Amino acid sequence: MLAKPRGFCAGVVRAVQVVELALEAHGAPVYVLHEIIHNQRVLADLCNRGAVFVERLDEVPPRACLIFSAHGVARTIEREARQRGLQVIDATCPLVAKVHLEVMQHARAGRDLIMIGHAGHPEVVGTLGRFDTSRGGSTHLVENLDGVQALRVRDPMRVAVVTQTTLSVEDTRRVLAALRSRFPAIVEPRRDDICYATQSRQNGVRSLLPRVDLVLVVGARNSSNANRLREVARSGGCEAHLVQDAGEIDVRWLRPGIVIGITAGASTPAVLVDELVERLKDLGAGVVTEMDGEDESVSFRLPASLLRATARHPTRTTTDEEAQLL
Ligand code: SF4
Repeated sequence: MLAKPRGFCAGVVRAVQVVELALEAHGAPVYVLHEIIHNQRVLADLCNRGAVFVERLDEVPPRACLIFSAHGVARTIEREARQRGLQVIDATCPLVAKVHLEVMQHARAGRDLIMIGHAGHPEVVGTLGRFDTSRGGSTHLVENLDGVQALRVRDPMRVAVVTQTTLSVEDTRRVLAALRSRFPAIVEPRRDDICYATQSRQNGVRSLLPRVDLVLVVGARNSSNANRLREVARSGGCEAHLVQDAGEIDVRWLRPGIVIGITAGASTPAVLVDELVERLKDLGAGVVTEMDGEDESVSFRLPASLLRATARHPTRTTTDEEAQLL
C-alpha cells in the first residue's frame, strides 16, 4: 500500500530545477554548497551533468556560479560569498526563507530565540545563522523536552520560538506546550514552521498504520523528514525501516501474508519507490494499491534572474495556496 502523498515536495522540485537551469545558463561546472537535497541518486545525476558539491566556500573558484541548497545558509555565508565575488543563486526553499524572516524579526525586537530542531542539521545551522545578536538577544537550540527544562534565557518575558521545517508534528507539539508553560509570553509563529509537505507525509503514514504490518520509508539516512516518517510509524506501534533504495530490503522483514506500507521522504525521487515496488513484486508481493490522501498542488516560483538568464519567463504569479503557506 502506497502512502499518499509521498516523495518530492515543492521545495525539492524547485531546488533541483535551480541546479538544472544554472547548468543551462552558466554551463558546467556550477558549484553547490552542501547537498542540494538529501538524496544520493539525485546528487549523482546532477554531478554527472556538471554540478560540483562543496562543503566550504574556499573550494569554489573566484567568480564561479554558486548555489545555496534548499536548506538555506547563515548570513555570514552570504556575506563571504559576496566578498569572494561569486555569482550566487539561492535555492533556499521559500518555506525555510519564511522561518529566516521570523528569526530576523525576533532579533530586531531584541528577543531571545529558541529553535526546536536537530543540532548540526544544515537547515538549523542556516536558520540560527540568520539571527543578528546586535540587539542583545541570543539563540538557544532545543531538541526535546529535557532541553526545555535546561534553558536559561536573558528575560523570560522576551522570548520567541521557531522550529525546523521537517520535525515530527506530535513531538514538536509537546515541546511547544512545555515552552508555553515555562514562558507564558513566548512569541510563536503565526503559521506553523513545520512545512505542509512534512505534515502531509506524516498524515499519509498515519493513515497507513491501521492497514499494514510493516512500513518501509524510502529516503536517505541523513534526511530529517524521512527519519521522522519512520518514527511516526514506529510510534504508532508498527515495525518500520528506512531504506535508501530497493537493494536495502532485508528479506527477514518479510513473511507470508503481511501487508507492507510504503512511503518516501520529501527528497526521494519517485523512481526509487517504483524500484522498491518492483523488488517486492520479485519477492512475491501481489496487489499494489495507493491509499487515498491529500492531493498536493503547491509549486514555488524559480528565481527570476535564472529565468531571465535561460530566456525563460515566469508564466505565473504566486498562487493563493502558495501565498497562504508563505
Ligand atoms: S520539506 Fe518543506 S521546507 Fe523542506 S524543501 Fe520541502 S517544502 Fe521546503
